[in-house]
Amino acid sequence: MPKNQLVQYKGGGYDGCFWEWNFCFYDKDGKWHDIASSGIYGCRNEEAWLAYKARADKNEYSAYDLSNDGWGQFVKEAHESLVVGVGKYLLDHGFFPASIACSECGQLTSCNELESTSYRGNGGIGIITEDYVCGECYSKYACVYCGGYQGKDYDFCEEYFCEWCHEEHCEGKEETIEEEKD
Ligand SMILES: [Zn+2]
Ligand SMILES: [Zn+2]
Ligand SMILES: [Zn+2]
Repeated sequence: MPKNQLVQYKGGGYDGCFWEWNFCFYDKDGKWHDIASSGIYGCRNEEAWLAYKARADKNEYSAYDLSNDGWGQFVKEAHESLVVGVGKYLLDHGFFPASIACSECGQLTSCNELESTSYRGNGGIGIITEDYVCGECYSKYACVYCGGYQGKDYDFCEEYFCEWCHEEHCEGKEETIEEEKD
């Protein structure tokens, strides 16, 4: 059996249609673990996984050897939110010291200490790019009122509020500023 091997595979399958990434893991002793399995293609035990692997095409799963920079490869290839979720599992079980670079400052940060910036109020439905930053960057670039992350390029008002909180809570107080310069 492989050791320290993380596997990402096409699991899921609801009503026989949609798949989603599922994950399993062989620890340093070669013991199999189900990290996330869903739908009819999800593998709840090693037998199911071996059967899956036996009939799967090459593009239906990827195996990463964590003893051999597999983590770095996985980080490059997988969606960031999945990376963080899997990383947390590996950390919580003491399997692997999973960390990724903070998307603001680049500091290598444990997956358990990352903050998701998906709260960024980008105005309704649409694709929200989810980023993960270290705690330090998060508190540096978040609105002090609602805690919403704004990013390092955001021009905070004096109170360090986001645009929305500024409109809600600051503007009423600035009644004297009537003439606006364009
Ligand atoms: Zn950072
Ligand atoms: Zn705010
Ligand atoms: Zn303000």
